Formats: sequence, structure tokens, C-alpha cells
Amino acid sequence: MISEKSPSISQSILINGGGIGGLTTALALAQKGIASQVLEQASEFQEVGAGLQVGPNAFRVFDQLGVTEAINALATFPESFTLMDALEARQIVQLPLGDGFRARFGFPYGLMHRADLHQVLLNACRRQTLIKLHTNSKCVSFMDTGNGVDVTLADGNLVSGSALVGADGLWSVVRQSIVGDGPPRLAGHICYRAIVPITQLPEDMRSNAMNLWVGPKMHMVLWPMRQGAYSNVTVVFHSDRFEEGWDTYGDPEELRERVANLDPKVRDFVMAIQDWRMYVLRDRDPIRDWSKGRVTLLGDAAHPMLQYLAQGACMAMEDAVSLADQVASHASDPAAAFKAYQQQRYLRTARVQLTARLYGHVYHAAGASADLRNEFLRTKTPAQIFESMAWIYE
Ligand SMILES: Cc1cc2nc3c(=O)[nH]c(=O)nc-3n(C[C@H](O)[C@H](O)[C@H](O)COP(=O)(O)OP(=O)(O)OC[C@H]3O[C@@H](n4cnc5c(N)ncnc54)[C@H](O)[C@@H]3O)c2cc1C
Repeated sequence: MISEKSPSISQSILINGGGIGGLTTALALAQKGIASQVLEQASEFQEVGAGLQVGPNAFRVFDQLGVTEAINALATFPESFTLMDALEARQIVQLPLGDGFRARFGFPYGLMHRADLHQVLLNACRRQTLIKLHTNSKCVSFMDTGNGVDVTLADGNLVSGSALVGADGLWSVVRQSIVGDGPPRLAGHICYRAIVPITQLPEDMRSNAMNLWVGPKMHMVLWPMRQGAYSNVTVVFHSDRFEEGWDTYGDPEELRERVANLDPKVRDFVMAIQDWRMYVLRDRDPIRDWSKGRVTLLGDAAHPMLQYLAQGACMAMEDAVSLADQVASHASDPAAAFKAYQQQRYLRTARVQLTARLYGHVYHAAGASADLRNEFLRTKTPAQIFESMAWIYE
């Protein structure tokens, strides 16, 4: 229950959205001694969905926020990443992700259930007296008064703070007020995800490795999580048959049609899975300006991206520490802090947004384009491939 009269409210920063981005922002602000209130529309703080790849750049954030130990207890650290041709079942390239990778980037590559990561952040927020967490608090509108921001919730309550961070995801209400660029762009790709107990995998597909099969207009990813007890399976393909939402059943018949021509090992494995969830992939073109006065955006609200680089949540967490740094160094001027934060972040996140689209084309290439991809990657050493990713992970 939000009380308008609480003395902390007028001084704290309001964060709309209690996903990975919103909670990380609250933690990063608290670390700088800045109070915040997280407004989450759902009746509980929780994550839906499946697995999440966590790059070394996100582990750097965990380190800064003091949650590395809790993350390490839940993350799985794969030994390698293998790219396979889905039609021929031929290995294209294999990259070791062990000690050499850690030494190069200073931090590991991890695999987690997104609910586990969210829970670690939530537990850390609950230990912070500077953070107030509110559920059933859906922002429907807000007003920048010049001295602060008043948020109106769906139940009619008003909550006031010194500034507002829209961390409310792909369909951000805050974005619609300050950017107003309509719904996010449909990629034309849909994604089916499943979590399968490891015991249901064929023996020769069980390993502590990330495997990616690429084929014409589709790809499939398989990797272990929760200490190898489960496998995260993701199949993405081009389609205009979909239902909007995270947790819909979609049309698994279409999924089965799309894998029918693949290598029999991959095909039979996919065919055997019954419990799929479908997700419609959307992103936006990058923008330069996502702040207005005392209001800014963060994470998917600011720069939604396709998942091909597995960086959306990682970018949201990077945003959070950048935003907290800037708020701390412009203590009396949230508007200036938000402009400085956006300036620090927009080119990097734009590059990830655009490169993620490009990777989608590369993964889903067919014919000569696919041959070119395979040939190009086969001639590279793992060290050369890592260097091409260094701009993201460093
Ligand atoms: C298939 C797929 C795979 C992915 N894999 C990876 C990966 O491996 N690695 C990676 O880093 N990223 C990955 N991502 C991207 C990642 O999921 C997102 O970038 C990340 O979740 C964004 O976090 P966020 O906090 O900005 O937004 P969200 O996670 O969307 O959180 C927004 C929160 O705001 C709340 N909210 C929304 N509207 C309101 C409102 N009006 N009032 C109050 N609360 C509101 C929501 O309920 C939600 O809790 C993937 C995405 C997809 C689709």
C-alpha cells in the first residue's frame, strides 16, 4: 500500500517496473546512498520465461553490486559453445568458455534460469532499507511537476518522487509518454521455449556445453542450467502465425513442421517435447533521446533488442549502474543526470540493437549466404572470434 504522506517518497526516485532492469537500478542507487521506490504492476515480484545467458559484462555488474556469490551458487558455467549446421549436423566452430575465456574478459559466461537471477536481485533489494518495493502498482500516467514526478496508479493512488525511471519493458507506458513511437517492431520471428529435465535428453546430447544449430530461417539453442539438472531449449523461426505474450502455447504444429527437414537427431528431440511456450520477437530502432526532464527510460523500455546476442538483460543491468553513477554525480539535478546517463549509454546499446538484428540474418542464412558464414567462421581461431565480441564483454 502506497502512502502519499510517507516522508521518503518526495525524496526517492521512482522506478516503474520490477523486472531485472528495475531491481538492478534500485540496488545500484542504494549502493550510492540514494533511496528509490519500485512500482510493479504484478501482484508479486517474479519473472516468467526460461533461461538467460549472462555475459561477462553482466558479471562485472554483479561484482559491483555485491551479488556475485549468490549468482555463482545458481549459475551454470558451460565449458564450450558449439555452432552446428542444422541441416547437415556438421560442426562449424567450437569455442572454449573455460579458463581462457575468463582470463580474457575477467569474468565468466553464465547460464541461469531468469527467475533465479531475478530472485537474487529481489533478495538483495529486500535487505536494503533505502529500497521500497510495491506490488499491484501499475503506472497509468505521470506528471513531471518541475520539482518532482507524480505517478498515478491504476487503482487511483498517487505516488510522488524526485524523478521517474521507466524500467517497464518492451511495452513501456513511460516510453509512450516521453517518446511516443507506438508499438515495438515485429521481427517476423517467433520463439518457442521449453525447459526439459536432463534425463529426457538423448545421452549424446547431455553435456555442460552450449549448442547452437543454425539453418535456413531458423535456429535452435540447447544449454544446461540449474547445475545441469535441466536443459533450456529455444527454437526460433520466421513466421507470421503467432499469439502475443510471454506465456502462450502458440502453434507447436508449426514448430514441428519447421524442424521436419533438420538433422534427425535435432528433429526427433524437438518433436518429443510437449510443453512449449511461445514468444513473439520484437525490437525497435535505436533512438538518441529517451529522457525528458525528470523522466528517463532503462532496459527494454529504452532499447529493446532481439535476443540474438543474448544481451537485453545484460544491457539493462549495465544501464542501471551507469544511471546510478550519473544520479550520484548530479545529485541536485535529475534531468542533467538522466541526459548524462543517456549520453553514456545510447551508442553502445544502439550498436547491440543493430548487431543483434544482423546476427539474426547470419544465424538464419540459407544457400550461398550460409556457406559463406560457415566458411568465414571455420577460418577463424577461437581467440579471433572472442576479439570480435570484446566490445560487448569487456
Ligand atoms: C526469447 C528471449 C530470450 C532472451 N535471452 C536473453 C539472454 O539470454 N540474455 C540477456 O541478457 N537477455 C535476453 N533476453 C532479453 C531480456 O529478457 C530483456 O532484455 C530483459 O528482460 C529486459 O529487462 P527489463 O527489466 O528492461 O524489462 P522486463 O523484464 O520486461 O521488466 C519490466 C517490468 O515492468 C513491469 N511493468 C510493465 N508495465 C508496467 C506498468 N505500467 N506499471 C508497473 N510495472 C510495469 C512488468 O510487469 C515487468 O516486471 C531475451 C529476450 C527474449 C525475448
